[in-house]
Amino acid sequence: MGEKIDVKSLVKKRKKELKQQIDTLKIFGIKPKLAVILASDDEASKVYVANKRKMCEEVGIEQEEYILDKNTTTEDVVKLVEKLNNDKTVNGILVQLPLYKHLDMDEILDSISDKKDVDGFHPLTLGKLFIGEHETFISCTPKGIMTILDSIGTDYVGKHAVIVGRSRIVGKPISQLLLKRGATVTICHSKTPDISVFTKTADILVAAVGKAHIIKKDMIKPGAIVVDVGINRVDGKLQGDVDTEGALEVCSKITPVPGGVGLTTVLSLLENVVQAARMQSDTNKMI
Ligand code: NDP
Repeated sequence: MGEKIDVKSLVKKRKKELKQQIDTLKIFGIKPKLAVILASDDEASKVYVANKRKMCEEVGIEQEEYILDKNTTTEDVVKLVEKLNNDKTVNGILVQLPLYKHLDMDEILDSISDKKDVDGFHPLTLGKLFIGEHETFISCTPKGIMTILDSIGTDYVGKHAVIVGRSRIVGKPISQLLLKRGATVTICHSKTPDISVFTKTADILVAAVGKAHIIKKDMIKPGAIVVDVGINRVDGKLQGDVDTEGALEVCSKITPVPGGVGLTTVLSLLENVVQAARMQSDTNKMI
């Protein structure tokens, strides 16, 4: 019988440590600050922005929000991003996705300075991650997954890691992080004829699909570590991509939904803001 990983306690401990680091930075005059741009009337995004604000307050990160209305153009958002790129008091810039449909997401994300790209979606940031450069931001969900896996002492070397999903924000970057640690990595996606052929051989299984309970217990290798990234609303309740109760009969460990990867995603954002503040102060004039 496997067990659910206690991500809540892990995040609580990490937030405490982060607050201490921030308190120390403030003694040296470094005040980490995040700018958040919300250009959408998506209700879930408003909740995510509010959660981020609360988490920033808890650890002592300053935050400013820009709520843009429906008449905002791509050019307006890019201008705002450029202003924030040049604002030395702002260390990190986050554009909450999804955007209003008429806005050009790529143009907006590409305008964020890679020195302030705390969400890690800029092509340059992703490129650096893929070539294994250290001084870069790791996008928040994959970074959080590694925090969880490291916290339980995961042995990566020579293990088979299978990722279901190949998105820019989860599947692709987590594949690179696992590869870097010495795992043999397989990525499955919607065109993979039978994902169970691969999932059944996974020592580490990451499900990032967005389809409730697509991973069932007979698709999991006995003793596997399972990371469930999916967040699906079914009959008003949140469900992961993995049938957790079934998976617990075969796996060794699994992240719960809710209360799993979502928590470390926000933690990673805070860590990236602190990293940005450190990088910008160490090199004095990075902007
Ligand atoms: P995307 O929709 O961008 O990507 C989904 C991926 O799943 C695609 O690569 C797609 O393949 C693949 N896929 C779809 N159907 C199947 C299938 N039947 N078999 C195999 N692969 C399939 O989603 P995201 O990566 O953005 O998010 C995935 C899930 O994770 C969502 O539920 C999302 O809400 C959640 N999420 C959770 C976060 C957290 O903090 N907990 C953060 C980010 C996301 P193809 O490329 O071929 O279309």
